[in-house]
Amino acid sequence: MTRRDALLALGLLGLGTGMMGACGGTGLLIFSQQRKRTPVPASPTAEPTKTMTPQPGPQIVAREAWGALAPDHSARNEGGFYSATNPGGWRVYDQPLPEVYNTLVVHHSAFLEENDRATLHEIQDLHRGRNGWADVAYHYLIGRDGTIYEGRDVGVRGAHVEGANTGTVGVCLLGNYAVDPPPMRQIEGAITLMVWLADWLQLTHIATHRDFNGDITECPGDNLAAYMPRFAAATNLTIGTEGYVPPS
Ligand SMILES: [Zn+2]
Repeated sequence: MTRRDALLALGLLGLGTGMMGACGGTGLLIFSQQRKRTPVPASPTAEPTKTMTPQPGPQIVAREAWGALAPDHSARNEGGFYSATNPGGWRVYDQPLPEVYNTLVVHHSAFLEENDRATLHEIQDLHRGRNGWADVAYHYLIGRDGTIYEGRDVGVRGAHVEGANTGTVGVCLLGNYAVDPPPMRQIEGAITLMVWLADWLQLTHIATHRDFNGDITECPGDNLAAYMPRFAAATNLTIGTEGYVPPS
């Protein structure tokens, strides 16, 4: 089976089972919608506002610059906009983001195309097309040379970790770190982003995807997971899922 066939198969596995985790997981519901809490009314036309991103920050390649497609709000697994009656819809956070986020979740892409841009397009095609989500699952992606790319708007709930998307910010390093060692420049770029996010979003914890979903994924691979102590030290965050609390 080729990699593309494997990805397609994973996408097909998502059919009829609701959601699957990013990075090759095959779980059921990725959103933490099973938790009861006061529904927050959302405008059906709400779009995230870029003004929520503080300045100054690290240099980030905007979606438009890498040629991302717009979110697909007719997506079969993340269709429409979040509401009490559509808890799996596109959720634009209406609270200040430091009140929303507490945990940074580290991922790898598990595959590479010929360059970063091609890999980014393949990820969006996989998530937005075959997995049936509205957009790229992750909020930020790190290229092989440490370049930081914008993924899903950080003002919107991600689709990157099953059962804990609401309140986790997703960062994906491009590469397969179950097999390869991550390039040092990429690690340095990731740390630059993580330090900024930890400070801005007032995070408390950092975790790997498999810390949350170890039953369905090895993401981000042993070779990247080995850097978690370094990430934690640089950001002054605690490793693990214990800090995860969905926003009220
Ligand atoms: Zn992952």
